[in-house]
Amino acid sequence: MAYASALHCRECGKEYPIAPIHVCEWCFGPLEITYDYDAISRAISREKIKDGPLTMWRYADLLPVDGDNAVDIGTGMTPLLKADNLGRELGIDELWIKNDAVNPSYSFKDRVVSVAVTKALEFGFDTLACASTGNLAGAVAAHGAKANMRTLVFIPRDLEVGKVIGAAIYGPTVVAVDGNYDDVNRLCSELADAHEGWAFVNINMRPYYSEGSKTLGYEVVEQLGWKAPDHAVVPIASGSLFTKIWKGMNEFASLGLIDDVRTKMHGAQADGCSPVARAFSEEQLHVRPVVPDTIAKSLAIGNPADAYYALKIAQEAEGSTIGSTPDPEIIDGIKLLAQSEGIFTETAGGVVIANLKKLAEAGRFQKGESVVAFITGNGLKTIEAVEQEANPINITATVSSFEELVDLKPQVGTKATSS
Ligand SMILES: *Cc1c(COP(=O)(O)O)cnc(C)c1O
Ligand SMILES: [Zn+2]
Repeated sequence: MAYASALHCRECGKEYPIAPIHVCEWCFGPLEITYDYDAISRAISREKIKDGPLTMWRYADLLPVDGDNAVDIGTGMTPLLKADNLGRELGIDELWIKNDAVNPSYSFKDRVVSVAVTKALEFGFDTLACASTGNLAGAVAAHGAKANMRTLVFIPRDLEVGKVIGAAIYGPTVVAVDGNYDDVNRLCSELADAHEGWAFVNINMRPYYSEGSKTLGYEVVEQLGWKAPDHAVVPIASGSLFTKIWKGMNEFASLGLIDDVRTKMHGAQADGCSPVARAFSEEQLHVRPVVPDTIAKSLAIGNPADAYYALKIAQEAEGSTIGSTPDPEIIDGIKLLAQSEGIFTETAGGVVIANLKKLAEAGRFQKGESVVAFITGNGLKTIEAVEQEANPINITATVSSFEELVDLKPQVGTKATSS
């Protein structure tokens, strides 16, 4: 709580006291947290952060809640892995994978929800809810269980079974809506108005929720030895994560914890839901909503709330891009990451790797530049996308059957060095 002093409108600047509200009543602009950065800069240091917990809560001074009361199921401080095999394959000098698929509910959404639930308890809410493209439902359900709150998650009806079970197992009320995410979100906005005691993490709690994503930026900077990467490749659904990674890194710079941020931000979408990539290529700051049709369901938001701010960053941070790739390349991306680095990601990660490959082929990465690819969700939640991989060689339990039927695949490592 200490350093979050108010809310302000991102458009007209009007200030509001800290409350569970998310839009400006004057201009309908989105609200954002106002921090007392002078006080933070006196309180924070690299040493204090290093001595903090080995979770995202080591950055509590920069979050809009009281970190001592955090609802923490062990989120954050996920591995940043040097990806030499994949780097060699793609011709990238210094490639890193930020593996946020290993969070407690297997996606980066634990970060945003951990902040939102902590704040919901501060406000005295007894019911937790969300409109989800899949991973948010799991994260909300897990944190709701930990916080002993009544929990309700709303999902589109065509969601992958791994995501449905990945939420249902924690015991929330799961509501599958006949429609896509944008329909779910519209319904939930109406329900949030009608039920004052409900904390919808990504609706009335959105200003607090979205700040949780900044911790991904902080962590990468700290793990790189207190410097921002030259390039970041980030998946875009609503665009919030993309904007908050940028915000987090820049907060570190303005607090004097690191030098200026020169990161080129690369947003990644699927062709089947690419309103932000399209606006970027047309040099627009406003998107035309689309009806999503892609296997990357966790990114399938046709009318993304933070697109405008993501597009502004892509414009402002010179050399940035927002691109998209077709579904078959997304599947190839999932397999490429698994087979080169031993990391099994969901379709959103496939989107990131496919876009990374495209950027590398376009010569966007110079020698000596560091590139961080953000892997935000786990592959076991979207096995439908790679079902064709379930084809083992069937034999009887005899040596002769093995010798007759099994041809060994070539050793994977040879792929990168030969040809
Ligand atoms: C939600 C989600 C994103 C992107 O989130 P936004 O902040 O809405 O852009 C990325 N990856 C995965 C796996 C997600 O679940
Ligand atoms: Zn306003």
